[in-house]
Amino acid sequence: MTPVDTLGRPLRDLRISVTDRCNFRCVYCMPKEVFGRDFKFLDRSQILTFEEIARLAGVFVGLGVEKIRITGGEPLVRRDIEELVGQLSRVPGLHDLTLTTNGSLLSRAKAQALSDAGLRRITISLDSLDDEVFRVMNDVKFPVSVVLDAIDSALAAGLTPVKVDTVVRRGMNEAGIADLAGRFRGTGVIVRFIEYMDVGNTNGWRMDDVVPASEVVARIAERWPLEPVDANYFGEVAERWRYADGAGEIGIISSVTRPFCASCTRARLSAEGKLYTCLFASKGEDLRALLRGGASDDAIAARLSVVWGARDDRYSEIRTSNTPRGPKVEMSHIGG
Ligand code: SAM
Ligand code: SF4
Ligand code: SF4
Repeated sequence: MTPVDTLGRPLRDLRISVTDRCNFRCVYCMPKEVFGRDFKFLDRSQILTFEEIARLAGVFVGLGVEKIRITGGEPLVRRDIEELVGQLSRVPGLHDLTLTTNGSLLSRAKAQALSDAGLRRITISLDSLDDEVFRVMNDVKFPVSVVLDAIDSALAAGLTPVKVDTVVRRGMNEAGIADLAGRFRGTGVIVRFIEYMDVGNTNGWRMDDVVPASEVVARIAERWPLEPVDANYFGEVAERWRYADGAGEIGIISSVTRPFCASCTRARLSAEGKLYTCLFASKGEDLRALLRGGASDDAIAARLSVVWGARDDRYSEIRTSNTPRGPKVEMSHIGG
């Protein structure tokens, strides 16, 4: 039976981080000063194998999870990730399987391999069309053109609808919001603008750096009038807006200014097998110990139900500028 938490929210989505490593150092996620040469990433033996992940996924789906997103760190730095996609796509009862990537390693061949393995659609992160701005934000001087090629590769492989996720950070990329929206108008690609969040402890977040969702909508609507669209389903994170002239839609993820904890049905599994019930959690439940300790699927399911049943997370609803920023898990550790 699907577990329901103390606030009446069922367990429906699972985000699986397959690695804590990444080839980018986005300033809002893995700042170089912290994730430098001396940073100690997880060892291979500490991270879950594909078989362990697929087994846990089966237990989650048995409990009512309908949607799985593979994330990271950068999921495509994990070798043969399409093998995991294949294993997850064969989990009976799973309705939706997707993956979030920075696109840097998404060649035509990789996109096709992921599609052949059973990936249905994909989200590619891109913060700006301006090469200078993008290079500063990813902080490894990675060019925009390669990510645009990755988007084309995803389209060619039928990983649709392709979504493009853009984190908006004040003073960095807000001037390019409308250009990004314009680039994908009429292409079927859905751009989603995400408010910069205070995840983890390392990105030096300040409320002043957040560009509110209302401002993002206003900047785009100035050029192309927008109208709101109803959510696709309960718990959808992005607010949907469509162009009045029929050129498609955009999404807005306003986790800071209009939080959506009341409908948050997401669990997160870290690369080392810890279960987090909130993006802003400080502690996770060690599922790897259960797996490697010989627990049965039923015993794991029972534990998951207890953990979810006790859940009362609603960090974004109670956050203020003064919220103490205690130790929290890093975004690169549990994925977005
Ligand atoms: N490396 C992949 C990527 O960048 O798409 C997947 C993992 S990344 C942690 C997932 C998403 O989280 C990305 O779209 C990224 O832009 C977003 N993200 C990271 N740090 C964030 C922050 N502080 N606030 C809002 N979104 C953030
Ligand atoms: Fe890497 Fe994604 Fe974080 Fe950027 S947002 S540092 S690409 S994990
Ligand atoms: Fe869900 Fe936590 Fe984000 Fe609220 S703050 S929407 S409970 S992950």
